[in-house]
Amino acid sequence: MQATTKLIHSIPVDPHTGAIAVPIYQTSTFVQEAPGVNKGYDYARTGNPTRSVLENLVAELEGGSTAAAFSSGLAAIDAVLKLLQTGDEIIAVDDIYGGAFRLFEQVYKKFGITVRYVDTSDAAAVFHALTPRTRLIWIETPTNPTLKITDIRAVAKIAKAHKYVGPGDESHGCWLCVDNTFASPAFQQPLALGADLVVHSGTKYLGGHSDLIAGVVVTADAALGQQIKFLQNASGAILGPFDSFLLIRGIETLHLRVRQHAASARAIAAFLENHPAVDKVYYPGLPTHPGHAIAAGQSKGFGGIVSFALKADTIETATAFVTSTQLFKLAESLGGIKSLVSHPAQMTHKSIPAEKRKAAGVVDGLIRLSAGLEDTEDLIADLRQALDKLVAAHEPATVTARVASVRATGKLVPAEIC
Ligand SMILES: *Cc1c(COP(=O)(O)O)cnc(C)c1O
Repeated sequence: MQATTKLIHSIPVDPHTGAIAVPIYQTSTFVQEAPGVNKGYDYARTGNPTRSVLENLVAELEGGSTAAAFSSGLAAIDAVLKLLQTGDEIIAVDDIYGGAFRLFEQVYKKFGITVRYVDTSDAAAVFHALTPRTRLIWIETPTNPTLKITDIRAVAKIAKAHKYVGPGDESHGCWLCVDNTFASPAFQQPLALGADLVVHSGTKYLGGHSDLIAGVVVTADAALGQQIKFLQNASGAILGPFDSFLLIRGIETLHLRVRQHAASARAIAAFLENHPAVDKVYYPGLPTHPGHAIAAGQSKGFGGIVSFALKADTIETATAFVTSTQLFKLAESLGGIKSLVSHPAQMTHKSIPAEKRKAAGVVDGLIRLSAGLEDTEDLIADLRQALDKLVAAHEPATVTARVASVRATGKLVPAEIC
């Protein structure tokens, strides 16, 4: 049986009623026959049948032994960090998701957990950053927004060979955790490549419809999975039954959706490469991308995100662009049905000092696109009209006036009026 068929049929038919869709068990507690004698559930923070179906489904999807669903991607990341002890060290990808950076630096640092940020696309740099207290290696591949690729197999070997010395259980060594949000498990399964843990912002491709916030942790090892389950119950940031249902419903079409997202992204990347207003295109599916060969060797697809730098490298031009697209809606997030555009310098990466941000490639004219499920030709036409407008309106005064008007009124004034 093929993986997708197996996945779809791993979602059980409700044993009590025959319902083909997973019932939403909207309950806080479960009646017991005698103290401790129950049907497998006692209190809904500890376990809920709707959430259990989701957790088993994501474990199957990632090829892991155990999954735990959380109220957000950050809550999932938080649970992984709680495996560590004071004094432990993390090596993390330098291009890390901003929310993870904030959690590491503003929450866990004060508990004595320190993080070294390295360019993990260079596996040797990871090796050289190891210390006896390195307990966790944290990567994203592709990263946000420049889609840098890390060799999961190579970093997994480094993690496995490392001997952790500290107050934590030393027999566990050093863990590799992959934030697999951008690739999605339909394309990339880090546990099969040697990772110990996978986290997801289920808010993005797993949910796929921009209608919920959710997170998941998956482990390869069952004992490590039980530690995560313990933390899920002990800290309590669980995913509720309705959002669990929505996430199951999203995952049912994941494979189908990501194929289309990726097909559009590839066509968009090729279009952008040939547009005169565009300086540089970042997409792992392009043979010119430095991580192309590694990405091709570890994932079945290159994802639905494309980033590009405008030749006119200014905040004003980038703002003019992101307020000129019609189908690409200006918003944070990614991975939904509707295409989204964002301007990292003013949005996701705003809190990073300008010099550090630019050194990482997040220049003022960098734009990130999340290709949705609209027709590819319509998406390209939308980008073309917005880019052509930039070329046509190269008198800076026009752009500046338009931006000022958007800022002042919060409304998009059609370009023709300016
Ligand atoms: C969005 C995102 C997160 C955080 O997830 P939330 O569901 O917003 O808490 C973590 N990692 C990556 C790569 C993301 O894109």
